[in-house]
Amino acid sequence: MKVNRNIKTYFLLSTFSGMKFTFFKMLKNLFNKKKMITLNYPEEKYKYSSRFKGTHVLTVKKDGSLRCTACMLCATNCPAQCIKITADEHKDSSVEKYPISYEIDILRCVYCGFCEEACPVDAIRMGPEWQTPDKNGSKFNYDIRYLAYRPQLKGGVESSLDDKERHSWGI
Ligand code: SF4
Ligand code: SF4
Repeated sequence: MKVNRNIKTYFLLSTFSGMKFTFFKMLKNLFNKKKMITLNYPEEKYKYSSRFKGTHVLTVKKDGSLRCTACMLCATNCPAQCIKITADEHKDSSVEKYPISYEIDILRCVYCGFCEEACPVDAIRMGPEWQTPDKNGSKFNYDIRYLAYRPQLKGGVESSLDDKERHSWGI
């Protein structure tokens, strides 16, 4: 019985000590909002570094066509096997192949960046976007239209191979 009472006292003391800590933290945050380490999401958003690897982007050439040559190196290197590419012969004989379909199953992607590393022509990059919620599962299968021409990309991200001056995200 005596042991039980001691255990109860111990739990009560810990509970009050936890409440005291939380209360003082709350007061500190209320009177010094600038030093708060949390953000009021979604009104306030965290700014990640420029090296952040978020949602993929297929870059474009100056004429707006895809930079990708459908070499399959990204798909071969992808550890999650979530990239599917269908290639076709290009009408221009100086270009060997191009993708008629390029899909990333983003729910399987582990955001490792291997696809970006493997690409020899700067055709796929991982950009600064990280807010990509949706209710419909099929929306997480990103196709060429989404990867290269979604509205946030404002006409597409030019490959640095084609224009060294203009390769900022513009997002
Ligand atoms: S980031 Fe990694 S897992 Fe995701 S598509 Fe690229 S290679 Fe695959
Ligand atoms: S994105 Fe790059 S690595 Fe992947 S198929 Fe296109 S050119 Fe090859």
